Amino acid sequence: MEEVQDKFVAMVSAKAEVDLPVSQFEPRSMLAVPEHNIEMSKFPSIDYHNHLDAQESRSVLRVMDACGVEKCINITMRVGDEAFEMHRKFKAAAADRFDTYAWFDWTDPHEDGFWERCVERVERFVDAGFVGIKIWKDLGLTLKDKNGELLKVDDERLVPFFEKAGELNFPVMFHIADPDAFFLPIDRFNERYEELAAHPDWSFYGSHFSKAELLAQRDSIFQRHPNTTFVCAHLAEKSEDLAYVGRLLDANANLYVDIGARTAELGRQPYTARDFFLKYADRILFGTDLVPDEEMYRLHFRFLETRDEYFDYPSHASRQGRWQIYGIELPDDVLQKVYRENALKLLSR
Ligand SMILES: [Zn+2]
Repeated sequence: MEEVQDKFVAMVSAKAEVDLPVSQFEPRSMLAVPEHNIEMSKFPSIDYHNHLDAQESRSVLRVMDACGVEKCINITMRVGDEAFEMHRKFKAAAADRFDTYAWFDWTDPHEDGFWERCVERVERFVDAGFVGIKIWKDLGLTLKDKNGELLKVDDERLVPFFEKAGELNFPVMFHIADPDAFFLPIDRFNERYEELAAHPDWSFYGSHFSKAELLAQRDSIFQRHPNTTFVCAHLAEKSEDLAYVGRLLDANANLYVDIGARTAELGRQPYTARDFFLKYADRILFGTDLVPDEEMYRLHFRFLETRDEYFDYPSHASRQGRWQIYGIELPDDVLQKVYRENALKLLSR
């Protein structure tokens, strides 16, 4: 009997690839379940979170037309005159299909009058027809003031900036911090191991402020400026814990969230995600944060509109985590709000 067993093991190991590196493991699902290719969003959609500086407007428009995307917001990463140039370029290509978000300008925080200039810049953006301004995670992680002190997200010197944005109905978008896994060691327990191993510079493990501290600083701003509208990109950086995002939305009527680059997180918790969308349908914005192409948009639609199971999530070249997603089949009224109506509320201010 033992001899038979040994023979069997020998036969299997001859055929098996053992000690395969994780990076080369590409399992193909054997599941036979329904698949739907949703070519166009069921209702016209607005991509509230994209970065188009490097894109050619005509090819973006082609993708938008093919997918039912009515409008795309370019969050420019240019500052100074180049930001205005970028805004003009897209407006000239199709005024009703593109809008521009400004990027907070940190080129001169060490020069006199910086904090006053932040306020003046908001006025200029509003005059030029920009639709909001984004503050990125360099605030809190790397930016230092004149004295070499790391700037806190809720630095008091930014108060006049937030107040001016509120006064002018100019939404402020925050992208502070990143997924929880980016603040943990890049080791075998890290659920984003492959992504971080490919981009170790994306890790903030050992950052001066912990992720919880960064978010607490950010969250205090919503309370401090109740008349300013805020958009928290990437589900407020807490898509792993939608109960946290729900509490944040409950506590702050002036807050919206976008789903940019978080379909992977939402689609691996379809029951929780669906409940979240139903409860906060008025506060969630469709946004992708990915280079516009047909497949990218269609995977978003498949996630939001169908009950397809276990399929690829839209992502950059490198995958976020080793899992598949499930569709959440949202009802029409929720889809209309998330795809378009919530964005229109912010754009028509
Ligand atoms: Zn972004």
